[in-house]
Amino acid sequence: MTARILSGKEIGQQIRQELTEEIAALKEKHNLVPGLATVLVGDDPASKVYVGAKERACQALGIYSERHDLPGDTSQEELLALVERLNNNGKVHGILVQVPLPKHIDEATVLFAIDPDKDVDGFHPVNVGKMMIGEPAFLPCTPHGIQEVLIRSNIKIEGADVVIVGRSNIVGKPVAAILMQKQAGANATVTVCHSRTKNIADHTRRADILIVGIGQAKFITADMVKEGVVVIDAGINQIGKTPEGKRILVGDVDFEAVKEKAAAITPVPGGIGPMTIVMLMANTVKSVKMAAGLA
Ligand code: NDP
Repeated sequence: MTARILSGKEIGQQIRQELTEEIAALKEKHNLVPGLATVLVGDDPASKVYVGAKERACQALGIYSERHDLPGDTSQEELLALVERLNNNGKVHGILVQVPLPKHIDEATVLFAIDPDKDVDGFHPVNVGKMMIGEPAFLPCTPHGIQEVLIRSNIKIEGADVVIVGRSNIVGKPVAAILMQKQAGANATVTVCHSRTKNIADHTRRADILIVGIGQAKFITADMVKEGVVVIDAGINQIGKTPEGKRILVGDVDFEAVKEKAAAITPVPGGIGPMTIVMLMANTVKSVKMAAGLA
């Protein structure tokens, strides 16, 4: 068997198209423009790339964006004051503080200061709690993107044995919470593995749907999966550079070998990565609708 490739790039493009239409309609019928503020502290090169990509995505879709680039020695108080101003800014419906923050700033204090109604990253405990009990909430972008890829690829989630490898607060834990809900597009039987799990392969071999986010290049090998599994690879690992200086990226799954056994698989790059930004845009649109009582 050679797997069907689940292209997050293509699915993300479909969602962008839907959002573009929705944003145009919000403007025309309600004179509403969704707005996203990004906050970057310091000059971490990867963070700059992510923030730049988010800004470009806003521009392409017709979302108002404002970017706050602060020096690396910004104090926590200054950052909290900016978050407060953005909480009170009517043009801004989503606030994204790019992490990691410099070491002298407590990340949790800053993220928890964001108004939960503008927390389009879905990291605020209010939204995490709502997600857990199945109430409408901003879902974190990468896990939400994973669910969208499964749903839009017509993968049956209900009743499936879903095995997740990785339990971080941004990938593993929330994807487990989302897929175990008693809701359409969920209802899975979920197992979560991590670095202390005994015999990970005993779990991964049982998976109907295997979701991996650990940050270990090609960790999942063909002998760790069953024939016909659906594989979602959230990992992004740079393993070198081409002679032209382009980054060589691979996932947490040995794609070439596993695709010969899987029914479907996401590639890296072009799988879950592109979905993350799209879901951030979707949350920003959801936020303006919520603020206007339209959602
Ligand atoms: P973290 O480092 O926060 O978490 C890694 C998780 O993997 C931990 O739960 C850890 O276990 C587990 N783990 C690590 N090594 C092993 C192992 N050998 N066996 C079993 N479990 C292991 O990483 P993130 O969740 O932030 O990121 C994971 C990957 O996903 C990275 O490659 C990252 O680049 C990518 N990513 C991609 C995104 C996107 O597509 N846009 C967004 C976010 C992340 P323990 O808890 O026991 O330490």
